[in-house]
Formats: sequence, C-alpha cells, structure tokens
Amino acid sequence: MEEQKTEGQRLAEKLTFEIKSCWETIEEKDRDAVAEFAEQYKKFIDKGKTEREFNAECLSILKEEGFIDIETALSRGKKLKAGDKVYQNNRGKSLVFAAVGRASIKEGMNIVGAHIDSPRIDLKTNPLYEDGGFAIFDTHYYGGIKHYQWTTIPLAMHGVVFNKNGEKQTVCVGEKEGDPVFVITDLLPHLAQDQMQKKANEFVRGEELDVIAGSEPFKDEKVKEKVKLTILNLLHHTYGVVEENFASAEIEFVPAYRSRDVGLDRSLIGAYGHDDRCCAYTAFRAALERAGAGGRSGIPEKTAVCLLTDKEEIGSMGNTGAQSRFFENFIAYLCSQSVENYSDIDLRLALNRSAMLSADVNAAYDPNFGDVFDKKTASYCGKGLALSKYTGARGKVGGSDANAEFLQKVQAILDKHGVRWQFGNLGKVDKGGGGTIAQYAANLGVDALDCGIPVLSMHAPFEVISKIDLWTAYRGYAAFLKDA
Ligand code: MN
Ligand code: MN
Repeated sequence: MEEQKTEGQRLAEKLTFEIKSCWETIEEKDRDAVAEFAEQYKKFIDKGKTEREFNAECLSILKEEGFIDIETALSRGKKLKAGDKVYQNNRGKSLVFAAVGRASIKEGMNIVGAHIDSPRIDLKTNPLYEDGGFAIFDTHYYGGIKHYQWTTIPLAMHGVVFNKNGEKQTVCVGEKEGDPVFVITDLLPHLAQDQMQKKANEFVRGEELDVIAGSEPFKDEKVKEKVKLTILNLLHHTYGVVEENFASAEIEFVPAYRSRDVGLDRSLIGAYGHDDRCCAYTAFRAALERAGAGGRSGIPEKTAVCLLTDKEEIGSMGNTGAQSRFFENFIAYLCSQSVENYSDIDLRLALNRSAMLSADVNAAYDPNFGDVFDKKTASYCGKGLALSKYTGARGKVGGSDANAEFLQKVQAILDKHGVRWQFGNLGKVDKGGGGTIAQYAANLGVDALDCGIPVLSMHAPFEVISKIDLWTAYRGYAAFLKDA
C-alpha cells in the first residue's frame, strides 16, 4: 500500500521544480525514434564536416524536396503562394530556406537559425615548406580552440583549390577507407621538461600546429627541396595545381574519424563538430518537416524559415556570416514576392513580428570540472533542450537577453508539445562566457532566444552530446515552427 504523503511533501510537489532526465520520462514507443534519429544524424555529419559540405548536403535535399532558388522566383514575376518553398544558397557556405505560410508574411515568420562552421585548422595562403626531411603544411587555426588538443590525432584535408586553368577542384583526403591521413606532432614527454612548465595556451602555440604532408624526397640531386617537390608533384597530378594556387585556396584540416556511440549504453554520440551541426541538423530536419517534406502534407500557418550560417566561430563576420545582410536580403526578396505593392515597411513589419530560436550548443555540466558550473542553471546531458535567457560575459555583456514574454511563450509551446526543456546558462558568474547569432537577428527586431543541445568538451576535436537531447531539440524546433 502506498504511504500517505505528508502535508509538506504535497506542498513541495506543488511548489518546487525538478528537471528530470529525459531517459526516465520518455515513452517506450519513442525509444526507437531516438536511436534512429541519432543514426541519421551521424551519417549526415560524417558527410558534412565543413560548412561547404554541410551546405551541399542540405542543398541537395532541398532540391529533391521541390524547393526553388529565390532568384528564380524573383525573375519569374509571379507572387509566391502558401505552400511554396524557396531557398537561397549563399556562396556554398551558408543557406536559408523558407516554406511560405497561409498567413501574410507581414504577420511575422517563425525562424530557426544555427551555424554550420566548426573550429578547425586552416592552411595558410603560402603553406608548403620543407624541414628535417618532411614536407609540412603551415596553418592558422580557425575558431576558439585549445591548441594542444589538435596534436597527435588523425586529420583529413577538405576544401577547394583552383588550378592554373581556373577550374575549381574539391579536395577531400583522409575520409575514405584506405586514404592517408595527416597529423600535427607533439613533443615526447622525455624532452618536454620545459614545455610542461608552460601555461596551457603556450605549450603548443598557434605557430606549432603545422601538419605533416609527406617525407619522401624526389630523386634528383639537382633539386633543393626534394620532399616538397614530391608533394607538389602529387598535388599537380591529382588536381592540376601548382604552388601558387594555394594563394587562393580554402583548405581545412578536420578530424579524420567518424562519429561514434559513446558509453556501454550507447546513450551518447562522440563526433567532430557537434557545435553547431547538431543544432543545424535538428533545425534543418524540423524546418523540412514544416515545409511538408518527405510526402508529409500541411502548409505552415506562419512562414517557416531556417537559417544556416557560416563564420560564427570567428564572430559571424563576412558575407556568409550572420552579421551580414544576407538573411535580411532574403526576407526582403521573400516579402517582395509575397506582398502586393511591396514596400520596405512590409519587410520591417515582417521582421519585427517574427520569432526565432537561435539554435546553438550549450556547455553541458561536466563532472570532471564541476566547479565552473552553477548546478542550478547549468545544462545537463540527457535533460532536454537547454534554454539560455541570456549569454554574454562579465555582467551579461554581449548577450541579447530574451524578453520574459518571449521566453514564457516558448516554454509554453514546448510544454504543450511535451518537449522537455532545461536551463542553459554558461558557467558561474564571471567564469567566462560566449555569444551566438541570436543578437544579430534581435538587431533586426526579431524576438530571439538561444536554445540548443548540451555538449561536453565543446570545441575539442571529439565533442559529446546525448542522443535524447538531439531528438528533443528536433522536436522542440518543430513545435516552435508550428506554433510560435
Ligand atoms: Mn556554436
Ligand atoms: Mn562554438
């Protein structure tokens, strides 16, 4: 027989709040969906390790699903109608797409936005040199990394280079079975007495992140840099490039391994670049679903928009980053094709009445480093979608700080759809901080809230997330696109 609850117990149940693990509350029928979604995600991110590749994967699906280029829509001089689906591919690096809703776009849009770039190691513009019998690629890292984490792991080379005929060559070495990989070396412990005394941000410096390209000399006594020539010769055979062509190339080194299940219970996923492809993928899937993809019926009430941007890890700069006018321009095109007698006011109204989830990862509570987290407001792996009212550092500086009214609205939508959410505040006060793309949407008048998936070891070459948070985020973004 169940014991009678005391008055205090009943009162505590009514008044206090506890965030439980989603694994404890999930319905049995949903377990397979969680596992299957994780498998689809793993496959997708293994194919899309760079912003260009992720963009290309998304684009091919959009085209399959009947999305049309917004520039085509602009040129045909016919207004868009509810159910129409359009996209804009921004230089192969960022992407925005929309499913036109039944309501006028002037009523506002529901937007999910994420970034598809991740920290990595980029080639310099004149990278190849020879030293100690090795040909070596000189690099400059991209994004906020701990340098030392990128040594002694297998790396793959991705990117584009134009050959001397001006033809674009796509490079991808180190991903296929049997491909060679690349590596950044580290000093052996036996000779590291001085190195081990240094601070962590100095013991492997940025300039020491050079990548081994090869070691076999070209057999010719007359040649000075023989190993370098071997490598240039191989590159020339494969891509038709000469040394000068590095000057315009974009070559990126990323971890060569695939995503893997982590833990005996397989509840977690380890991979390169969960930040922010786990949120980008879930946002992408949710927006596709809202657009009626995969044979689903249904036209969204409000226009549903998905924004996948580049360059977040270096401050959202450049014309493919969230600070550019790319997104605003797309919405202007959309308005001009949706509203009779379009004027700039229509665009301003549409933006000001819009709502956005800025989908970006959050720092999951890490028991190894528990003392930097505030346990009451930290996000936890397995507890659902993390909502960050504010980001920023040193007194919320740089955060966009969502309004109470908007936060309440989002929480109510998530609750209505049974989507489990938790807090997501980055660390204890004055322990550091960070920012996302929310502020750039907020600048346009959009209500924006940061929310995403908790991640362990953020910006490391092997980050970890929970499968159930991935699935929960997908359901959360879908609920928001439907009901915000
Ligand atoms: Mn991020
Ligand atoms: Mn990041």
